[in-house]
Amino acid sequence: MSTPGAEPSIFSRIVAREIPATIVAETDRVIAFNDIAPKAPVHVIVATKTEHYRNVVELAAGDPGLLAELVSVAERVAAEHAGGEFRLVFNTGESAGQTIFHVHAHVLGGRFKEGSLGSH
Ligand code: AMP
Repeated sequence: MSTPGAEPSIFSRIVAREIPATIVAETDRVIAFNDIAPKAPVHVIVATKTEHYRNVVELAAGDPGLLAELVSVAERVAAEHAGGEFRLVFNTGESAGQTIFHVHAHVLGGRFKEGSLGSH
């Protein structure tokens, strides 16, 4: 969970339109926007609008319906922008590369080498 009284996360500021982003999909509870530093031809962040959950494990335990909604938005983004096939990555913890502790998935699309993980 996020720390009470802490500054809003970067993603909350995108939800509030306080900082710009290219928003590609949105529901009442989920937002999707292009990653600022893309690591694949298609690289979209899909985040819950709430920053209550720090990572996918907390979200799955606390609100599985919201996790399902996030996955459904990811599928829609991939259908529209990546031909329907994609990687869905949830970095979980600092040593796994997580830098923003507001639950989000990376939708990665484009051409990946068979068997490759973490590169394209
Ligand atoms: P993670 O490492 O899983 O926490 O992912 C954070 C991701 O957010 C990184 O891929 C960043 O490039 C991306 N990111 C950070 N700031 C922004 C921003 N202002 N707009 C879009 N993407 C961002």
